[in-house]
Amino acid sequence: MTLNIVLLGPPGAGKGTYAGILSKKYGIPTISVGDLFRKAIKDETELGKRVKAYVSSGDLVPDEIVNEVVKNRLNEDDCKQGFLLDGYPRTVNQAESMPAFKNIGVALNFVVSDEVIMERISGRRTCRKCGAIYHIKNVPPTIDGICDRCTGRLVQRSDEKPEVIKNRLVVYREKTKPVADYLRKKGLVADIDANYPIEEVDKIIAQCEKHLTKLS
Ligand SMILES: [Zn+2]
Repeated sequence: MTLNIVLLGPPGAGKGTYAGILSKKYGIPTISVGDLFRKAIKDETELGKRVKAYVSSGDLVPDEIVNEVVKNRLNEDDCKQGFLLDGYPRTVNQAESMPAFKNIGVALNFVVSDEVIMERISGRRTCRKCGAIYHIKNVPPTIDGICDRCTGRLVQRSDEKPEVIKNRLVVYREKTKPVADYLRKKGLVADIDANYPIEEVDKIIAQCEKHLTKLS
């Protein structure tokens, strides 16, 4: 059984949460392309230096480099039984390149309404001292505005303010729609209704599993 899974969905869809659950359940790694880049930059590898040059000048990292990074990672031993891939493919070119090194079993597309995303993200508060994350409705601190763990002050990150989220969603749709359309035409997309609150995460996981059993 091989579970080669690509994760699609807007910021705030909860991909990280679902990936964590599926990763444990099936014993396959979650691979975030953003994390791969950050690690390469931090470790100052040859590739990291090239990536850093693009990122620091505000340019997109070219597809050839992204493809190479993802290919190398997916060819490591821990991906033999499958993987949950987040942040790739981001372009149609990347989607076309992927089958040359790994086939895609299914692309789980987490569908969430803008209202739900807005509420989830704009309610987040982050501790300035220890980085702990709260939510004013779902995971409130004991004392308003104060971290339970370290008594640090809780703040709203600038990229989690409503206007910024709206813009992130517009950019996300523009950029990723062609990729989702391409994968859909290939019959690889499984839509997952992810509008449920966090207490009902089981309902979302159950939908994923239904599609994953078809792969085994
Ligand atoms: Zn704290």
